[in-house]
Amino acid sequence: PQPVVAVVGRPNVGKSTLVNRIIGRRQAVVEDIPGVTRDRVPYDAQWAGRQFTVVDTGGWEPDARDRAAAIAAQAEAAVATADVVLFVVDAMVGSTDVDEAAVRMLRRSAKPVILVANKADNSSIEMESASLWSLGLGEPHPVSALHGRGSGDLLDAIMEAL
Ligand code: GDP
Ligand code: MG
Repeated sequence: PQPVVAVVGRPNVGKSTLVNRIIGRRQAVVEDIPGVTRDRVPYDAQWAGRQFTVVDTGGWEPDARDRAAAIAAQAEAAVATADVVLFVVDAMVGSTDVDEAAVRMLRRSAKPVILVANKADNSSIEMESASLWSLGLGEPHPVSALHGRGSGDLLDAIMEAL
């Protein structure tokens, strides 16, 4: 069985766009409307000659009344089957209460977590992403899933963690 990398985070941070960047094709569904990805969807990926499975997540209702609880449940289910977790936040927004609730769940797991600061489309957002150290998950990895910026460095970090 291949190692499994789960991609978690609140709606609209760019998880599915990042999955497409990682697998090198547009297969995961990207939507401007939050909550489109249903359940957990696995895709085959490879980097530096290694094969792995990357799992896109979503699946909670866009109008869920308690989003923090919903994301925690989603993250927990994905984390349970993962070898490495990519926790994606929106670098343009910075960390939110929902992100912090998800982090509390992630930190209780024994799984390695890589903090991804997505939507770092330019160097100024990339520099601002250093504030995400405050989440307590270690070094933020700035990427632009949309444009590809930083994705090679992120994949190298994933390979180190696997
Ligand atoms: P998900 O709900 O977390 O899976 O997010 P999606 O991948 O569906 O993306 C949500 C929105 O964010 C879409 O409009 C994407 O085009 C946009 N998006 C994703 N990644 C980036 C990025 O790196 N930069 C910018 N500017 N937009 C992004
Ligand atoms: Mg999605």
